[in-house]
Parts: sequence; structure tokens; C-alpha cells
Amino acid sequence: MPAPFRITFLGGLGEIGRNCAVLELEGKLLILDCGILFPDAEMPGVDLVLPDFSYLRDHAEQVVGCIATHGHEDHVGGLGFLLRDLSFPLYGSELTLGLARNRIAEAGVLDRTELVAVTDGERRQIGPFDVEFIPVTHSVPHGFATVVRTPQGVVLHSGDLKLDLDPIDGRRTGLARMGAIATTEGIRLYLGDSTNADEPGHSRSESSVGPVLDNLFRAHRGRRIITTCFASHIHRVQQIADAAIAHDRHVATLGRSMNNNVALARSLGVLRIPDDSLVDIADIDRFEPGDICIISTGSQGEPRSALALMASESSKWLSIGPSDTVILSSHPIPGNENDVSRVLNGLVKLGAEVVHSGLHDVHATGHAKQEELKTLLDVLHPEWFVPVHGEYRHLAAHARLAHAMGTAPERTLVCEDGDQVTLDDHGLRRSGTVPAGHLYVDGLLDDVGTALLRDRRTLADEGVVVVLATIDTERHEQLRDPQVITRGWVYAPEAEPLLAECADHVRQAVDAVLHTDDTVTADTLQRTIRRATGQFVDQRTRRRPMIVPVVVET
Ligand SMILES: [Zn+2]
Ligand SMILES: [Zn+2]
Repeated sequence: MPAPFRITFLGGLGEIGRNCAVLELEGKLLILDCGILFPDAEMPGVDLVLPDFSYLRDHAEQVVGCIATHGHEDHVGGLGFLLRDLSFPLYGSELTLGLARNRIAEAGVLDRTELVAVTDGERRQIGPFDVEFIPVTHSVPHGFATVVRTPQGVVLHSGDLKLDLDPIDGRRTGLARMGAIATTEGIRLYLGDSTNADEPGHSRSESSVGPVLDNLFRAHRGRRIITTCFASHIHRVQQIADAAIAHDRHVATLGRSMNNNVALARSLGVLRIPDDSLVDIADIDRFEPGDICIISTGSQGEPRSALALMASESSKWLSIGPSDTVILSSHPIPGNENDVSRVLNGLVKLGAEVVHSGLHDVHATGHAKQEELKTLLDVLHPEWFVPVHGEYRHLAAHARLAHAMGTAPERTLVCEDGDQVTLDDHGLRRSGTVPAGHLYVDGLLDDVGTALLRDRRTLADEGVVVVLATIDTERHEQLRDPQVITRGWVYAPEAEPLLAECADHVRQAVDAVLHTDDTVTADTLQRTIRRATGQFVDQRTRRRPMIVPVVVET
């Protein structure tokens, strides 16, 4: 019986982010993407969330490489972390590798990988894996769908994609190639991007954004124009620059990732902005407002981004005023709405006119909507289907589309992070689970853990009460009244009577224990203090702050 093929999902199934799958054949592992997830409000202080890499660490010697399908952070942002523990070559398009390289270099682990550029349509053997790279259109150029020919048939992973028939660079999704493989060899298993599976219709072409921008530049003639979009969205940057130059403006970039990515994409010929149209951000005041266009980072309202700094009047490069128009050529990712809103309010308060995707069609999604997903399912006609890249509801919606397009429900597996599936002569089945919890990265701490996050949420929501009891162990009594110190429970300077009452309540409880138990330990005293304080706080204020008992023995 031909060798089975196994896939382990370490991330991206049940969330939009930290995409990471492990392909397994003949005892060798090939990683497919290694991304991060951006934290939400439930994760205070967390910088980013990684997949749990323990499965890969446990099988480090078997890893033959990693494929980066495209250069987005949710696909390559985790490499700088994984490469600390493992060493493997990285395969991707030149642009993808260029985008990933910055992060890997920042982490100081560039020497632990070899960057291997692959081209559209290239077929390459990576260990036992026979891999073909098919071009796809997406919100970053030069992404790939990945075809793996296994002893169990052809496995096709879509990557992030849309079916843009009129892309900026003319490089369309290789639908014909996919169809040819489906017809001649058949698709045994398809893994498809589910991000927009509950969005009806067809995504707009990226090229439809250009004319909208052009009209805006015409309408805002004479005003300074500041635009923002994802720094990796090179085709959007291209369209903004084209509109600016068509209206006789010079272009300045602002923000570290925008500066880096524009330089990278220009050096690779992916982005075309003539030298004499680019000016340094330090020189923009030498131009009339109507002669300049700034392309900035901060489209997601990221608190320390260039745009957020402008909105809070703390940009060192420019001050926003009534003669400015700010165009957000983007759409907030779920979870970022509040940050974006804060930035919008700040900009409007300073007098700027703000244009965003709610007002004009200044954005087009990079992910296929229902009609495109149905087209893909129809062309590929897979024997087995696993929806990937989405929250659970997106995966379920994609599964429904597959049923509608003729894949039998029992041949569609809606999997979650940590699931392993095996493809063998009998078909595809769930064959196990591996650890796949969130790994929270905070500053230099690698895994801050869920307990710490729970503490942070309690501190944020309820505050903290510290109760300090001083015990004379010889005489078996309290040396003084307990001290009650709080932040965030009640405002201490105005609540002294309450704090005194609390101290009194704790003193009585501690006295009671000291009098009944001659051999009382510090542990017991701490428990007593915690219980007494908790009771008092609950009865008097109906709150549940964190209570920290401290016993000082003298
Ligand atoms: Zn993605
Ligand atoms: Zn993407």
C-alpha cells in the first residue's frame, strides 16, 4: 500500500492568523507557512501570538524545509522564533523571501536558514515532497498555491488567494494549470482559503481601486494628501503612487515597514516609482501641499504607527491640519476597529478630511468570496476537502460551499488547530491531535501563559488589594493592624474609612486563627487573609479584585 500522507495543523484553523501546517511523508516533515496572530483586547500586554511549536521541536531532525506561500505576517511572521530552535531551508518567491528576511534578520537567526527562491510554475523536490508552485493573486504580490504530489495522489493547498482577472501586474491565479492537474491527475485533497467564505459574490479586482484613487486625487487638488495601506500591499502602493504622479505630486513614504518594503519591491522591479518622483519625508515642506503625497503605515490604527502619531499630534515629520486629506486605503481587520476609530477621530479633530472604505471604494479584499470559492471547487473537483485559513464559522461556511459544489459532506473535514489528518488508501481521516495552544509573546518573554493573562485581565477589570499582616511569632499575636493597600478597587485617598474597616475585618479573622491554632503556618494565615478580604470586598462593593495577602513574621 502506498505510503500515507499526513498533515498536522498547528495554526490558522479557528482563527485568522498564525497559519502553520506540517506535511508529513515517509518520516520527513515539510512546514507550510509559519505565521503569527495579532493579539486582541483579551490579551493585555501581549505583542503577538505564535503557534505551539512543540510538535516541530520534537521532530526537529525530520524537518526538510518550510514553504512560505506569501509574505504576510500571518504566514511568515513566526519564522524568526521557530528558527531559534530549528534550522531548515525556506522556499518562496523572491519577494516573499525578501519580506520574510527582515523579520528573520531582526531575530538574529538568518544564519539558521537558507533562502531558496522559486519561480511561478516551478516544480521542485524537497526531501520526499514533489512540490509545484502555482501563482495566485492576493493582497501581496507573488504568492503561491502549493501542489504536492504524494503516493496518495495530488494535494493542493490554495494559499491566500482571490481570482483577480485583472491584477495590477497581469499575473493571474493559475486557474488553468490547476484545472489541467485536476483533469489529468485528479485532486485527491484540496485545502482552501476560507477567509471570505461567508461573503456572497465575487471580490473586486485590485485594479478597480485605481480609478477611485484617481478621482479622489482630482477632487482634493491643492490639498496635501496622506494615504495609508498595508505596507506589504505593493500593488496598492503602486496605484497610490500612480495616482499621485498622474496629478503632478511627489511621493514620500513614512513608517519603517513602508520604507523597507517600498525599497525592497523597487529593487526587485515589483514596484515602479521613478527616482525623481520620490522625495525624502524630511523634505516634504519644500513642496506646496498640493504637490506632495505621503504613503504611510498605520492603516490598522496600530497605536505607535506613523498615522497614529499624526492623529495624536506626535509625529516628528508632519502636523495634520485643515488643508490635509487622509485616505485610508484599507479595511480594519476584525479586532482593530477601535484602534482605527481612535485614529480617525484624532485626524478629524485636527481638521483633516478623512476618506475611508466606508465612504469610497478605496479598498478591495485579497481573499476570494463565495463565487470564486465555488469556481475553485468546481475546477478542482476534489475527492476530499479541508477548509483552512479562517475562524470556525468561515471554515463551516466553506464546507457548505463544497457540499453545494458536489463534494460529499462525509468527504469534507472541518478541522481545528492541533488536528492531524491522514490520507491513505481508505481516504482522509482524523488520526490524532497535538498541542496547539496559543503561545503568547510579550517583550522578551517567550510564553507568558494563560494564567498570567488571566491575572492581567483581573487587574485591568477589578484592580488589586494587598493586605499586609505583621505577626510576632514568639508572642503569637499581630504586632499592628493589617495594612490594606489598593490600586483599582476603590480610589484609596477617598476611601479611607472603607480601607480601615477592611483592615479591622482582617485583624479579627487573623486573631481568631491565632487564638485557636498554636501551630498556625504562614500559608494558613495567607489563606485566612485572602478569604476575609474577599468576603469583605464582595459584601461591601460586589467586586472581585485580585487579593494579595502578605504575611510578615518577626
Ligand atoms: Zn493569511
Ligand atoms: Zn495573506
